[in-house]
Amino acid sequence: MTDERTTNGRTKILYEDDAYVSSFKATVLEIVTEGDKKAAVLDVTAFFPEGGGQGADTGFIGDAKVTDVQRVNGEILHYFKGNLEAGSVYECRLDFEKRYDRMQNHTGEHIICGLINKEYGLDNVGFHLSDDVITVDLNGYLEYDELLKIETRANELIAKGAKVNILYPSKEELKGLNYRSKIEDLENVRLVEIEGIDLCACCAPHLDNIANVQMVKILSSMSHRGGVRFTMIAGKRAVDDYALLHNKAMEIVKLTSLPKEKMDEGVVKFKEDIEKYRTQINELKETITAINMVSLKERIAGNPDAGIIVYPAKSLDEIQKRTLINEGVLKFEGIIMVVDDVDEGNASFIAGRRADASGLSLKDFKEKLMSEFGAKGGGSDVMIQGRIQIDKEIKDRLCAL
Ligand SMILES: [Zn+2]
Repeated sequence: MTDERTTNGRTKILYEDDAYVSSFKATVLEIVTEGDKKAAVLDVTAFFPEGGGQGADTGFIGDAKVTDVQRVNGEILHYFKGNLEAGSVYECRLDFEKRYDRMQNHTGEHIICGLINKEYGLDNVGFHLSDDVITVDLNGYLEYDELLKIETRANELIAKGAKVNILYPSKEELKGLNYRSKIEDLENVRLVEIEGIDLCACCAPHLDNIANVQMVKILSSMSHRGGVRFTMIAGKRAVDDYALLHNKAMEIVKLTSLPKEKMDEGVVKFKEDIEKYRTQINELKETITAINMVSLKERIAGNPDAGIIVYPAKSLDEIQKRTLINEGVLKFEGIIMVVDDVDEGNASFIAGRRADASGLSLKDFKEKLMSEFGAKGGGSDVMIQGRIQIDKEIKDRLCAL
């Protein structure tokens, strides 16, 4: 209990000696109140307080839920929801699945950054371990391909395995050591050694052997403040991610009927095809509009004094209908209504007139459509649009308008 390296304030820290402690007995020494928040100081703990880019452990002290753990004024405070009493002994348990995931990812990051440091002399100057990915900032630029080579090397080392040791060298010993993340204060420096691979100052819990990292995967990289920011995952996260992506990828392989090595080419071809078809569809639409325009103009020429021309047409979109009406009304005093040519069911329509046309107002026509044909819709003085429920009788009456 007097060893400063493994205590913090009044609390002995269990993960310093064994990062795999997931449950333990502890006495509550004091309950600290901060506004409406309560925190317990324990005689021993395996809960990691937030620090160095890694979040706090969560879990339970007795039945009380531990929501956050922080180092405050030299003490480790376990913020909790529920009831705890000072002086009582409780069974404590960590959310160890979350902790183990973080240990896998954190240890994976040590391997990657250790190799980058050895190979390129770059340092990790920013680190954040979220519940999704690890984000690392390097103080120099690396191409994505170079990061992928490091990833390959790291996975080879993981497959072989290497012990992870926690060291507390003296000030004198430290001076002769080459390690990453050097800090000014040489008191109680905690080094994480991956035998033969890396030596780095770090306060967090790690795995005992890199074989348990399972695998690492670099996900992305981008230029950042003169260096590079990359994201990575390790452990079960990476294994799960591989399974997810593989299953998704196989769907693409099936769709493209190409070997998986070429599925990206298949997707590119799909995209090119879509662009080609889109162009063809637009050309066809223009042709269909032009054919309908000829037909509509013949209707107008055959009955130039009509108050209303109802023009049923198949497969016209809104733009085509508007184009027909806009051109049709140029030399026509009445209203033109273009409606989907269906015998039964819901049809959409657009109707319009010239603003200075002498015939029936669009407002009156809209009311007629609503009251006599049950149409629904709205619009302006020159263009209205809506829907109408068509059957044989309604279609005949509409066409007779
Ligand atoms: Zn670490």
